[in-house]
Amino acid sequence: MHVIDRIVAAVDADAADIVEFTADLVRIPTVNPPGEAYDACARFIGERLAREQFAVEYIVAESRPEHTTRFPRVNVIGTRRGSRPGPGVHFNGHIDVVPAGDGWTLDPFAGIVRDGRIFGRGVCDMKAGLAAAVFAARAIAQAGVDLPGLFEISGTVDEESGGFAGVAHLATIGRLDKSRTRYVVIPEPLNVDRICVGHRGVYWFELTTRGRIAHGSMPFLGVSAIDGMSEVLSAIRRELEPALGVRMTAMPVVPESARRATINVNALEGGQVVDGIQTPCVADRCRAVFDRRFLIEERLPAVKEEIAAVVANALATMPDVRYELRDLMIVEPVKTPDGSPVIGALDRAIARILGTSARLVASPGTFDQKHVTRIAGIPDCVAYGPGELELAHQPDESCSIADLINATKVLALAALELSGGA
Ligand SMILES: [Zn+2]
Repeated sequence: MHVIDRIVAAVDADAADIVEFTADLVRIPTVNPPGEAYDACARFIGERLAREQFAVEYIVAESRPEHTTRFPRVNVIGTRRGSRPGPGVHFNGHIDVVPAGDGWTLDPFAGIVRDGRIFGRGVCDMKAGLAAAVFAARAIAQAGVDLPGLFEISGTVDEESGGFAGVAHLATIGRLDKSRTRYVVIPEPLNVDRICVGHRGVYWFELTTRGRIAHGSMPFLGVSAIDGMSEVLSAIRRELEPALGVRMTAMPVVPESARRATINVNALEGGQVVDGIQTPCVADRCRAVFDRRFLIEERLPAVKEEIAAVVANALATMPDVRYELRDLMIVEPVKTPDGSPVIGALDRAIARILGTSARLVASPGTFDQKHVTRIAGIPDCVAYGPGELELAHQPDESCSIADLINATKVLALAALELSGGA
């Protein structure tokens, strides 16, 4: 039998175990925030990796402020070294899941399997992907293939809250680095026939407007910070949003509407606390937080200058309103290089297993690729995994078993090609 057929047969033989392993992962409620049960989940994955001949390390992000004794930030990495040299291949998945929320018709942490699907919080995003990575590695070994180079699988924390104690930590301490790893695949749920080649940039900023307090019965004696803010909000709606709406990226962001530059108001507060005791006062302070998503074709300094100009223009007729802008979070856009071997390997594996050609997409939001590219210095990184993107973070989240098995095969064949083991 050809090596590819042996790998495919090995995945098929493991199908029931892959489903059970995924359901077991769902039963460990790694809810973030606050970061529950990370240690239990990391160890569950680590024990499985050890059975598959991986050397297993646990890396606790003790230097991070979000790490506490109650909610430790525990990451797991398994390493399997081939007997010949080859480029390092790394599969990374986040172990954290978002809170269940309302609207479930079944227990979100029971790991229920029925009608060809596995149900539960985080099964799609992305415990099925973690299971696919682990069983892809097992199938390669079961098929008798000695993969050249380093083959690594990691389960990391906190992706849903920025990944700073997870992938960013591994990259910062040099444990995930271009010197040992050439290719990274993150099995996020982007649909089983799509390869995700990057994401837009993020610029979160805060605007504070300041006026002068006065008696609320004589507002003409004061300066309202809320009036100032409302001028800015309306300028954003009337001027900035139309300007952003005609900027389209060449990156294949899905959904289509997210190919444009966007801005959202995350938060707004001004004057007195609404539920508090009210006194007659002109609001002397108002704050808002904005989420500007920028395209790879835009430059951050220009993004910031454009915002500063809109604010300055809006407040030009209100010289008594003072204001300040403050950066909160910046994530540069990332894009996998065109023609990257990691895209080609997955494309060929998808064609072989699914009989269709892969569609390249980019993500509307960010994920851990930013840390892999920017901190670890590994450009050849994509997201590919089982699960439908639309079901992530939803009530009654689920993943198709057929997609899970197919993605496991695709990941195994891609690892085989990337490491030069074919
Ligand atoms: Zn995810």
